[in-house]
Amino acid sequence: MVSIKDFITKQLNLPDSAAERAVMPSPLSPGVPGARVTPRNEHNVSRRQISDGALQVLNGLHRAGFQAYLVGGSVRDLLLGREPKDFDVATDAHPEQVRKLFRRNARLIGRRFILVHVQFGHEIIEVATFRGSANGKKSETSETGRILADNVYGSLEEDARRRDFTANALYYNIADRSILDFSTGMEDLQAGRLRVIGDPEQRYSEDPVRMLRAVRFAAKLGFIMDAAAQAPIAACRERLQEVPSARLFEEILKLFLNGNAQTSFEHLRQQGLFAALFPQVDALLDHAEYGTTHTLLQGALAGTDTRVRDGKSVTPAFLFAALLWPALQQQSQLLEQQGKPATVALQQAASDVLQECIGRVSVPRRFALPMREIWDLQARFMRRGGRRPHALLAHPRFRAAFDFLSLRSQGGEIPATLVEWWEQFQTADHDGRRILIEQARLDETGQEPELGPLPATSRRRPRRRRRRGNRPDQDDMAQPGADGSHDNGQTDNN
Ligand code: ATP
Ligand code: MG
Repeated sequence: MVSIKDFITKQLNLPDSAAERAVMPSPLSPGVPGARVTPRNEHNVSRRQISDGALQVLNGLHRAGFQAYLVGGSVRDLLLGREPKDFDVATDAHPEQVRKLFRRNARLIGRRFILVHVQFGHEIIEVATFRGSANGKKSETSETGRILADNVYGSLEEDARRRDFTANALYYNIADRSILDFSTGMEDLQAGRLRVIGDPEQRYSEDPVRMLRAVRFAAKLGFIMDAAAQAPIAACRERLQEVPSARLFEEILKLFLNGNAQTSFEHLRQQGLFAALFPQVDALLDHAEYGTTHTLLQGALAGTDTRVRDGKSVTPAFLFAALLWPALQQQSQLLEQQGKPATVALQQAASDVLQECIGRVSVPRRFALPMREIWDLQARFMRRGGRRPHALLAHPRFRAAFDFLSLRSQGGEIPATLVEWWEQFQTADHDGRRILIEQARLDETGQEPELGPLPATSRRRPRRRRRRGNRPDQDDMAQPGADGSHDNGQTDNN
């Protein structure tokens, strides 16, 4: 008969000491030095609020004799009475040991610092071994102190010291359901204060993205960044240029697509971080000449927040179309002044602005292409003669481009009557559309300045479903999307 210890050693290929611990009941209060412990009866985090997947991982690790803690945003959010986005686990088990425990569901990821993703259905639990800069080894850094490689395992306390903010460094211990705090996380949470762990200037230099994370959490949680967290930003913000542009793109999406885009934008502006990310656009925001810029951006961010809160999809293409639009306009005006025809100027300006942006924040092609289409289609809304409006309506990016047109009109960049015309055109029937095109022609030649409401009979009737075997619909407007059934422009069509 195989002993439990032998079984664990063989199955999990663990050193004897770990197997030894695996068969010993874990101490209920490990008495971690340096930590303030909040026992279960003094906090509100209940196991029922933790996902099944996270509980399986925590319990599995614990049963095998490892330390297992829920950590990061999930503990923070549960303590605040919010629903966590995901659950992260920290442990003293090494990645290979974690993988062996959850063999069927586990996958090692990352190259330098290896993590384990344990998957249960759609849920992925990220399991990280405690990190530290133990044994006197220092992390590999750039000349400016940015951490390039950081793959040393450490103790629980070291792991806590490496985290960004005190509120993000709380550990829920599955062994006794207490919460461990190595800094001032609990009191900062209560005070609604975002505080950097360690020296803020050094921590921002190690990883400048932490400045953006500070803004994101302040906006999302309604927290105030303490004075120490704000002070070094002015000196450190240009360091964002050292961050790989793809990582910045991801971080910007987190800032603007989490339902708090408007507040995030305000914080970014206040801290001068928006200028570090989008210098061209930032310069225009304070320019009276480009007074519509602010309104357009705010409209885009407000619309994005509403969609996120309503559970609707949002696309980075639309967001970036709005973010970079002011710079695009300025650049195309400049090129026109240099004698380039308007359409050529717009094309070149789009390339220039993207190029400039990519220097800092790279927009992947799958978003850059639809973004450019949204821009390109703007000029086509002005041309309403003949078959052109029908062709535009059939364009797969029509809805996004039309939403963008509405935004521009809210900012006063184009007349509201143009948006109304297109609204009517989308819902009008064949005759209605003919009348609208005629009205637009008269409007443009100055003979009919006002666009009156359409007679009720001209409104497009809902199309009847064609029975199989019927002749093809003879309606020449029956093109994809021409019935106004497009998804909202924010939907990513890729
Ligand atoms: P969210 O609700 O957005 O998921 P989060 O706090 O969980 O917030 P994650 O990006 O999921 O944020 O990171 C998980 C945890 O890892 C953080 O709470 C923090 O403790 C740590 N962390 C993440 N990024 C950094 C960083 N750049 N520097 C230091 N610690 C970090
Ligand atoms: Mg998280």
